[in-house]
Amino acid sequence: MKHECPHCHEKTFTPLQKALCGSMRGRGKPCPNCGRRCVNGMSSIYFSSATTGIALAVSIFAYLAMESKLTSSIIIAASIAGSLLINFLFDMFFGKLAEPIRTMQ
Ligand SMILES: [Zn+2]
Repeated sequence: MKHECPHCHEKTFTPLQKALCGSMRGRGKPCPNCGRRCVNGMSSIYFSSATTGIALAVSIFAYLAMESKLTSSIIIAASIAGSLLINFLFDMFFGKLAEPIRTMQ
């Protein structure tokens, strides 16, 4: 299962390579076939803002609801790490590659 390059429309990106392309705010990674840079498209940004919002809500809840500072710290760290991991998995298997907004360098 490979992802299609938005420039040459060849299936050149493995799931791991696609996840490492980063978001549209980043520089992206060059396509192995045509050499032009690719990033994860808008769906990746929508998904990551949703999971970051959930992680933030869980963190606030843990901070307010847990009596033990250690327990709340563990829950906050786990929710942030979990959202990063879920975003990475989303980029690996879902969403489409797009052309970066910043095309220079
Ligand atoms: Zn290409």
